Amino acid sequence: MDQELLIRQLCGLPVVQYEFFETACLTFSSRVRYICQTECPQYGKSWACPPGVGTVEACQERCLSYPHALLFTTMTEVDDIADIEATLATRSEHEAVTHQINRLMRGQGADTYPLSTESCAVCPECTCPDAPCRHPERMFPCVESHGILVTEIAERLGIDFQAGGNTVTWFSLILYR
Ligand code: SF4
Repeated sequence: MDQELLIRQLCGLPVVQYEFFETACLTFSSRVRYICQTECPQYGKSWACPPGVGTVEACQERCLSYPHALLFTTMTEVDDIADIEATLATRSEHEAVTHQINRLMRGQGADTYPLSTESCAVCPECTCPDAPCRHPERMFPCVESHGILVTEIAERLGIDFQAGGNTVTWFSLILYR
């Protein structure tokens, strides 16, 4: 993949910050998975979330088979960040950007494994756990579902995610080889 070309393409998109790094730098933790299991209402209800994504060990092995990584953020201003519904509604714009970047990378011959935000919202109702995913090619698992604490890697890379006020920050992580 031509990284310089991709950087020029990223400049034309509403991406706030991005960093390329090696996937080996990621930390995979069962503590993150524990939070999914105990605090997230989507646990067991989406193929983008645990346990559908597999064990943390299986997720780690899958991720490490893609040696390179791109982490990026988009930000959106909302009237009131305490309004969860309005805040979550901004996610679809970030997902569209993630799909666009993934297409650009694949267009350059990269084999990608995108991880994005929250649980999948492609179908009005997920088939999980009763039937296989309807659109595995469009489904991007949640970053945290893989045991990755995205804010920790963002801090290490110098990516700012605390803009304050009513600014929502969304992350995606695209692994590639
Ligand atoms: S694409 Fe549909 S079936 Fe697959 S995880 Fe997303 S919502 Fe569920």
